[in-house]
Amino acid sequence: MSDKAPISFLDLPRQQARLGAPLRARIDTVLEHCKFVMGPEVAELESRLCAYSGAQHAVSVSSGTDALLMVLMAEEIGPGDAVFLPAFTYTATAEVVLLLGATPVFVDVDPRSFQIDPASLRDRLASIRAQGELEPRVIIGVDLFGQPAPWAQLRDIAEAEDVLLMADCAQAFGASLDGQKLGREALATTLSFFPSKPLGAYGDGGAILTDDAERAALYRSLRTHGEGRTRYEVLRIGLNGRLDTLQAAILLAKLDVFEDELKRRDAIASRYDAALSGLVQTPYRIAHSESAWAIYSILLPDAATRDALQASLGDAGIPSVVYYPRPLHEQPAYAEHHDETVSLPVSEELGARILALPLHPELTDPEIDRVIGAVQAFFSQADAKPVTQEQGA
Ligand SMILES: *Cc1c(COP(=O)(O)O)cnc(C)c1O
Repeated sequence: MSDKAPISFLDLPRQQARLGAPLRARIDTVLEHCKFVMGPEVAELESRLCAYSGAQHAVSVSSGTDALLMVLMAEEIGPGDAVFLPAFTYTATAEVVLLLGATPVFVDVDPRSFQIDPASLRDRLASIRAQGELEPRVIIGVDLFGQPAPWAQLRDIAEAEDVLLMADCAQAFGASLDGQKLGREALATTLSFFPSKPLGAYGDGGAILTDDAERAALYRSLRTHGEGRTRYEVLRIGLNGRLDTLQAAILLAKLDVFEDELKRRDAIASRYDAALSGLVQTPYRIAHSESAWAIYSILLPDAATRDALQASLGDAGIPSVVYYPRPLHEQPAYAEHHDETVSLPVSEELGARILALPLHPELTDPEIDRVIGAVQAFFSQADAKPVTQEQGA
């Protein structure tokens, strides 16, 4: 391999090669028993997810998006209800709210951590209450990029406001806060097993974690068309929202190496931090937490520098991605659901300056050196501006 061979942003062929025989054995077992829907691997995965996260119940589902949808359906969220969520997240967090006829209320994020900003959340709650048209029902905290949202503050606000708190942990399964794996921070926690997430399947998948037995039973019913005690007792409107047995089998093989992968991700992040912290704003480390490093995003001083760095990395065969170029409230699909007199300045500015570098367990040490070398080479040009202290703060 030449030292200019393109580096992958997500390297599934190498991942498959590393997982090797145990992965194939898991798949073969499913091909032998042919229980492709709700086969034994589904229940096995659910108990492994409980053991891993400490949650009492895990309900595997068809995707992270369906997980969010089912949690909201279980609370009968609908027209007239307000659901508060960060403007700087993936569209799935917000689209499920509109699918149910409820109204998403976009909240700004913290300029250092990029996580939902509790002060903005309080403001948005107060103004929705003052307007008196919508009933605040739910807050969705998002563990963005692999790091935990400010859960202690979110719990205080949810309790004071008497609204339900749920966790969109699609990007952060495997992360921990105060020495505990994420999964019990809110009434319900949703996971995604999309292939690029820290614990990724080879197709779509997701799960809901909860300590509440009644809700777990409700999620199980919702994921199978609202069924009751028998398949043909229909208690409520549900979905076809099950996780395929094959995906459960693949996830079981991947769970066996998940902790090692998280350690590798963390080691790569530390190397990037050490080499790049004088040049760019490296990710802010949230106190008492360990990131799952779904995404390693740096901040540049301005859009021109970000765009020039991205082009220069591209020339060196190094992929980089902008998560997210536009906050949700400025997207065509959501603009009409947002009060345009409300600005969310941090979310509106981040998209121009942010850039994610490749970070996954398959990256080799020479590839990490190449990424670091390419960023350093960019800043050694006379006209490239490194980030300043106040921009970093
Ligand atoms: C990926 C993602 C989802 C949706 O997960 P899918 O499994 O792709 O449906 C939801 N929220 C966030 C924050 C995500 O990153």
